[in-house]
Amino acid sequence: MTQPTIAQKEVTLHILKRFGIRMSKKLGQNFLIDEHVVKSIVDAADIKPGDAVLEIGPGIGTLTQGLAEAGAQVTAVEIDRRLLEVLSKTLEGYENVRVVHGDILRINIAETVGAPQYKVVANLPYYITTPIIMGLLEARMPIDVLVTMVQKEVAERMVASPGTKDYGALSVAVQYYTKAEIMFVVKPDSFIPPPSVDSAVIRCTVREKPPVQVNEKIFFRVVRAAFAQRRKTLLNTLKTTGVPIETLKIILEKTGIDGARRGETLSLDEFAALSNVWIQ
Ligand code: SAM
Repeated sequence: MTQPTIAQKEVTLHILKRFGIRMSKKLGQNFLIDEHVVKSIVDAADIKPGDAVLEIGPGIGTLTQGLAEAGAQVTAVEIDRRLLEVLSKTLEGYENVRVVHGDILRINIAETVGAPQYKVVANLPYYITTPIIMGLLEARMPIDVLVTMVQKEVAERMVASPGTKDYGALSVAVQYYTKAEIMFVVKPDSFIPPPSVDSAVIRCTVREKPPVQVNEKIFFRVVRAAFAQRRKTLLNTLKTTGVPIETLKIILEKTGIDGARRGETLSLDEFAALSNVWIQ
């Protein structure tokens, strides 16, 4: 080991003090201080020596160090310019880490990572969790698996089943692109500063082929409409697509789905059936 383990409270406080860093709430800076959590994240991603990994938001290098020690070839994208100097010190000696300054929502990820296939491993900034995950999935990046720390409540929405309160457009989208599972829950005292909510590590294994065959544009338009007004019946909420009610009734009849149901009770297969009739 070339450096002390960063994922410890005293080491993290020492680094922050040495570089005069005040953590930014706006950038979602909650740094991990629990080495068991770092190890469990690395294990959940099943990192093998030589694996290409994109890390989003390395902070002071806490998780980056765990990934590097496991032998990953890490590209770490950090938006906060102040942390670049810190990272160059805390990760000194790890030849398998490349830190890039940039906004993950703006950079050209394929060019930045430069690997034909890679894993995404991150303790995500919570203010942009959904745009990051959906952006990566919708762009069909060549990703095997995403192992990310998110708010527990968001993780629960990602894996939710039809008919539950957490089930929504995010659940359908994540489950369309991936097999998602919550790996473990992380308490606030594993971070500095402690966030106000519990967190969870979720593993999303990208599917080679979606579980249903659809025209994606129409499928996601129907999904968004079905969840647009959760209190309304499916028939009424689908009106937000602009399709006349008589046509909607025919579409529903063809698929055998009762328009009196709520949108949030529909399975992925049922959304697929609806959208496939939509285009005919
Ligand atoms: N990986 C570190 C850890 O586990 O302790 C830090 C995680 S912290 C929750 C999120 C990190 O993402 C911060 O370092 C923050 O500056 C960075 N960040 C926030 N917005 C970002 C963006 N748009 N692009 C890249 N990094 C971002």
